[in-house]
Amino acid sequence: MLKDKIAVVTGAGKGIGRGIALVLAREGAAVVVSDIIEDDAIKVAGEIEESGGKALAIPCDVSKKDSVDSLINQSLEKFGSLDILVNNAGVYPFVSFADMTEEDWDKVLDINLKSIFLCSQAAARVMKSGGKIVSISSIASFVGFSGLTHYCASKGGINGLTRALALELATSKINVNAVAPGAISTPGSSVVSNEEAVKQTVAAIPWGRQGEPEDIAEAVAFLASSRADYITGQVLVVDGGYILR
Ligand code: NAP
Repeated sequence: MLKDKIAVVTGAGKGIGRGIALVLAREGAAVVVSDIIEDDAIKVAGEIEESGGKALAIPCDVSKKDSVDSLINQSLEKFGSLDILVNNAGVYPFVSFADMTEEDWDKVLDINLKSIFLCSQAAARVMKSGGKIVSISSIASFVGFSGLTHYCASKGGINGLTRALALELATSKINVNAVAPGAISTPGSSVVSNEEAVKQTVAAIPWGRQGEPEDIAEAVAFLASSRADYITGQVLVVDGGYILR
């Protein structure tokens, strides 16, 4: 589905990003595995190469312009072009609104939302013959979660940015879409939810289980492929039915 395509995936050293990198590689793309922790990126790139795929690990802090520009430049130097950008890196530290500091707010907005501006702008500038931008939003862009006001705001921002950017980039034949996961089992989510919380979450999911990174990765792979050429500005919810209730 993605043969000969070049993809960059941010925050791909673990969790959903790792799952996306592996599935894009399985579908034939050469994948730039990027993460703030270089060792994690190297590990995932190694997994891809071991199964016969093409990969390159590049460290990047998506909240910093210099770091993002360097990621895109190094990707181009290695592979010559860029077809797919997956904006996945994100954080979700719980803090009540009353206790939230300006630093808490800025950190989450910078990593989750400013990053999409920085990465998408840098990538769109070099997507000379069209391309696909897929950002990882969240069901938190549609429903509220206590302790995550900054996170919910950042993910709502992604949905708005996705629609507006899709309009601007349509003439360049760059599709801009987002995937909004529900509760997905990842290293990040396991830090913030204990066994009891997971049980309660699963009880609220009509499909009867938490999602796995691959559930999100399959949706991303579709949106990153030519099968989705006429889809742009959309937010695809992948949540086992959680927000239907
Ligand atoms: P995760 O397990 O914590 O993995 C995220 C990866 O991104 C980690 O390797 C992390 O590194 C990295 N990262 C953090 N800050 C970064 C930065 N500034 N620049 C580059 N990389 C950075 O998280 P996840 O659960 O897979 O979540 C991935 C995405 O899905 C996020 O955008 C999240 O909001 C979204 N999402 C997740 C869920 C869920 O239930 N898991 C649901 C909805 C949406 P460190 O380990 O150093 O932090």
